[in-house]
Amino acid sequence: MTTTISLTTGTEVISVCTKCKLPLAHIIVAMDEAKIKKVRCSTCGKEHRFVSPDAKKRAPSSKVKVRVEEQWKQLTDSLSSKRKIPYTLSGLYKEKDVIDHHVFGIGVVNQVVTRETIRVLFKEGEKLLASARVSL
Ligand SMILES: [Zn+2]
Repeated sequence: MTTTISLTTGTEVISVCTKCKLPLAHIIVAMDEAKIKKVRCSTCGKEHRFVSPDAKKRAPSSKVKVRVEEQWKQLTDSLSSKRKIPYTLSGLYKEKDVIDHHVFGIGVVNQVVTRETIRVLFKEGEKLLASARVSL
């Protein structure tokens, strides 16, 4: 069993009020086992479902990040025997080339968009980089 704080009806929690549209103090009025089912806004008195103040912002982006990292790890693992090419603006790359970028680290070329633009998957996400640029 997990050691979560036991919430009961009558406990004060922070929920986003569906009427005030703000994270405010609410009193739990109904529980669904370990989950908060219904809360009452201490500001306007409206009863509504519990809306976690950080659920909207954090949950989706962190999920996406994990997926990108997993994808990146699988890709770099499968290409670990390949030579890592130091990234330069003038370099010419092809798909599945493993590059070493001075800021983003190890990346794998996912797609050659145009001769001068490549799509590279880094640990933190996919980025568009320049390639084959002739320095003047
Ligand atoms: Zn309210």
